[in-house]
Amino acid sequence: MSEFKSGFVALVGRTNVGKSTLMNRLIGQKVAITSNKPQTTRTRIRTILTTDEGQAIFIDTPGIHKAQNKLGNFMVGVAEKTLSEVDLILWLIEPVDYVGIGDRHIAELLGKATEAPQNEEEKDSANAVKMSENRILGTGSHKIPRVLVINKIDKISKEKQLELINTYKDLCDFDAIVPISALKGDNEDELKKVIFNLLPEGPMFYDEDELTDQPERQIAAELIREKALRLLDDEIPHGIAVGIEKMKERPSAYANKPNYIPFYDIEATIVCERDSHKGIIIGKQGSMLKKIGTQARHEIESLLACRVNLQLFVKVKKDWRDSAFLLKNYGFVDEDE
Ligand code: GDP
Ligand code: MG
Repeated sequence: MSEFKSGFVALVGRTNVGKSTLMNRLIGQKVAITSNKPQTTRTRIRTILTTDEGQAIFIDTPGIHKAQNKLGNFMVGVAEKTLSEVDLILWLIEPVDYVGIGDRHIAELLGKATEAPQNEEEKDSANAVKMSENRILGTGSHKIPRVLVINKIDKISKEKQLELINTYKDLCDFDAIVPISALKGDNEDELKKVIFNLLPEGPMFYDEDELTDQPERQIAAELIREKALRLLDDEIPHGIAVGIEKMKERPSAYANKPNYIPFYDIEATIVCERDSHKGIIIGKQGSMLKKIGTQARHEIESLLACRVNLQLFVKVKKDWRDSAFLLKNYGFVDEDE
């Protein structure tokens, strides 16, 4: 029998390419948050896949992109740092007609320049990448294996797939290129095979039934935020955070019985940037807040296998995304520091 493999796997790629969907698919349960809004995944979400062959710990990196405020800076920093610390990098793309600036930025980060920058804006970002490249990936010698994952192949023809492979294959020195559909599951097994082939031999870091090493509070907050973002549609542009003020299990005389389902009281605050946003989040006679609460409660109950009494509050904090203090307060801090 071959040796047990294990290690950390970073998922990188532009927003919306399907990183969270893939992560959920691989571990077969919903933990990462998916949404078709950009930047849903703000903090690192780790999930664990354990098979007979090995154990892969996936890190869903927040978008690698140009930072526009402190939150953006923080996210880019986390993403870049993550790349230097993992055993394998999965770069996800979705079918597109040309390689955009976002993907070229990632390609350069991954250690190999592509084409000469074409306009001023691109030159600037290329320079920025060079600096971080030295800091992050070192120069030359040690190379972390990288796989190009072409997602959403359910949307395209075989010919288009080959075209895409051709377009992307020289952007970076890939160890493998795997077309998949994270949504439908096409080629999922092939991808798992590739992952365990490329991971180093290593120990089991986590118990085999563990799916994430994240605190339940953080998962609850992320689920509330996902529901809020989805229900509010485009009315609130990304300016919300969720803080869990209280998450407490109710004591019960039955707690030791088999099949006991714990009951949590959760109090959470949705933080937005404007008074007008607060009104929208609360909705007519509280109807929107109630919807968010109901959907979030169902999802928390099913994911964490518990019953939940959820109370939601809404607060306005102007410019919270530019305040280091507030970012820290809402959990947007690097756990390693
Ligand atoms: P992330 O921002 O990279 O984490 O992307 P998400 O996982 O949140 O996915 C963004 C959108 O793409 C969601 O609406 C997904 O349902 C959709 N999506 C993800 N994977 C696939 C796929 O394989 N095929 C199709 N058609 N849609 C997908
Ligand atoms: Mg995501």
